[in-house]
Amino acid sequence: MSRSEPILIGIDLGGTNVRAGAVSPQGELLNWSETLIEARRGPQAGVERIAALVNTVAAGRQILAIGIGATGPIDRERGAIQNPYTLPTWEDVDILGPLSQRFGVPAILENDADAAALGEWWRGAGQGVKRLAMVTVGTGIGYALVLDGKIYRGTGGWHPEGGHMRLDPNGPLCYCGGNGCWESLAAGPAIARDLQAAARQQPTRMLDLAGGVIEKIDAAVMAEAARLGDALALEWTARLGKIYGLGVANIILLVLPDSIVLGGGVMRSFDLFEASMRATAAQTVPIVPAGQVKILAAQLGQQAGVLGAARAALDLYQEKGHHD
Ligand SMILES: [Zn+2]
Repeated sequence: MSRSEPILIGIDLGGTNVRAGAVSPQGELLNWSETLIEARRGPQAGVERIAALVNTVAAGRQILAIGIGATGPIDRERGAIQNPYTLPTWEDVDILGPLSQRFGVPAILENDADAAALGEWWRGAGQGVKRLAMVTVGTGIGYALVLDGKIYRGTGGWHPEGGHMRLDPNGPLCYCGGNGCWESLAAGPAIARDLQAAARQQPTRMLDLAGGVIEKIDAAVMAEAARLGDALALEWTARLGKIYGLGVANIILLVLPDSIVLGGGVMRSFDLFEASMRATAAQTVPIVPAGQVKILAAQLGQQAGVLGAARAALDLYQEKGHHD
């Protein structure tokens, strides 16, 4: 495509980093960049950083629309971020207004799990699937459905939180107020917490790989140790695989999607969890045709959110009556 062809901007706003990409209407990522969001410096400074990032990736091309996938909670209708949990000071922050005005284009705000799912549906592991569920395992567990190419929305347009489905009523307390949520059992921080406790009880190569510092043992260290055959790391990948399998089984029972795609930082080690996840899911769901549900690793990595946000921007642009 020529440099002058118009583009969409996709933005992935997380608690630590913000990424932006220039994406063609066909879904090619033409250019991308990222920077620290430094949320504590306040939302005004954050919006300025995002605007600068948009200018960098747009590199003078015409922008059709801007999409933002942001770590929730968000208020889609008002285009506002309400997330003092992972974006300190960002409470009721209008993010769409300033960006839309500055660039003179329509803008749309989505939950980051929704954006990642839309990205995998557009260009990744769930490409073109009619009923797609996506689970993103990182700092939390994100969950989203894409049905007929559209993000599924709950009552009032709000985003459902499948990562907080209760898997163990006696499990650890989650910040949401529930016990034994999927996220409080198997997201990154929960994995680190449990591995560190286990490493205090028995010898493991994880400790060497973490430079002898127990507090540095995390999911990435576990994956590395498991590949070296460390017994404790292998025990934990199998145990976590079962927990992912339970969540996947519940999604199969509730939704019976065509595909379930698992992404996020922890799922870079999808292969280590795969056997025990599949075995648990298969055991738990004999009464629906679970075998027809594909369970797949995500393909787009960190770009899923940027591509999905750009796709949401494209849909918005076309809804507004532009069909070229
Ligand atoms: Zn919870």
